[in-house]
Amino acid sequence: MTGSFAKRPDFLPFSRPTIRQVEIDEVVDSLRSGWITTGPKAERFERDFAAYTGFPYVLALSSATAGQHIGLIALGLKPGDEVITTPMTWASTVSMIEVAGATPVYVDIHRDTLQIDERQLEAAVTSRTVGIIPVHYAGAPADVDAILAVARRHGLWVFEDAAHGVGCLYKGTHVGCFDRLGVFSFHPIKNITTGEGGMLVTRDEALAKKLKALRFHGLEKQAWNRYAEGGSPQVEIVLPGFKYNFMDLQAALGIHQLASVGEFNDRRRALAARYDALLADVPEVEPLGVPGYDHFHTRHLYVVKVLEAARMTRDEFIAALRERNVGTGIHFRAVHTQPYYAGKYPQWVGALPVAEWVSERLCSIPLFPLMTDGDPGYVVGAIKDVLARRRS
Ligand SMILES: *Cc1c(COP(=O)(O)O)cnc(C)c1O
Repeated sequence: MTGSFAKRPDFLPFSRPTIRQVEIDEVVDSLRSGWITTGPKAERFERDFAAYTGFPYVLALSSATAGQHIGLIALGLKPGDEVITTPMTWASTVSMIEVAGATPVYVDIHRDTLQIDERQLEAAVTSRTVGIIPVHYAGAPADVDAILAVARRHGLWVFEDAAHGVGCLYKGTHVGCFDRLGVFSFHPIKNITTGEGGMLVTRDEALAKKLKALRFHGLEKQAWNRYAEGGSPQVEIVLPGFKYNFMDLQAALGIHQLASVGEFNDRRRALAARYDALLADVPEVEPLGVPGYDHFHTRHLYVVKVLEAARMTRDEFIAALRERNVGTGIHFRAVHTQPYYAGKYPQWVGALPVAEWVSERLCSIPLFPLMTDGDPGYVVGAIKDVLARRRS
């Protein structure tokens, strides 16, 4: 370590959920009440989420991946179909296309924002294309109008991956359901958390009804208090469904997390602005650009690219930060380069130059609401120390 840099004694993780006494008390209240699975708190969380986002039909479920799974089933995805998506996403986005027996088709990304490159969408459409799954990456929206225009011209559905997008606006409208369907994630690193959890959103009543059955054993008529006094214990299975329901224990967290989402996102935005200012004189690492169109950024991740000028690999950069007690993440390794996908679809390897270039160089540095005002300064001090040691 050089110059004035002093290593902190404790490790700063790249993310940590904000769990307060109010969430702890609510979970304890559920535990003591005798009702721990899907029940009144799950219903309240759905009502609150619908009120916050404005979507008429919302379905809380065990994870965003579960939502992607049953969402694609409900949209009728089948073998032989093609779905266009981005390689810069968590693997579940592509894996659920694969699980349906359909074929993922990739479009490369913008080098600055890492959003799907809408200019390349049209050329990716074939007679087998049925839909588009854009990702609102890192808490900024993809270019929705351009994506919808291609979808409308070719009769495709759009299923938004809004895992990073609770609170994210595109031209004043909450992201998640500009077309048929969208999904949010409440995994512990996301902007609000329920431990594990996700939310499907739609404006289509018939689709919502089908998703509800798929979420829970194929039951069309459901009442969480089926076993309670006065409820009927009879059930009718209308289709083969999954067990992807959302527990009151999860909702106990979610109710209070959602009530604070504005506060959490403002804190993230303030910390991100601090990083922007501190990194302005560090040309070796390049922060993510922001889209030119009107949007509200939730700053889910603070991603930097480790450029050639750093004269070290991204993995060396990560190891050197870890030595200085700074945690990092990789969001994401381009999905088409993962062993399964590279093996099954070798034609994509080398075909997505921007995603592949970035995939080797990107790194998420710590960003979460509980960080102190001094933490961004510490992280950038550590980055400067790493780079200075490399030069000397
Ligand atoms: C986290 C994430 C998912 C999956 O969410 P889970 O709730 O963990 O299933 C999907 N897509 C993206 C872009 C994500 O970051």
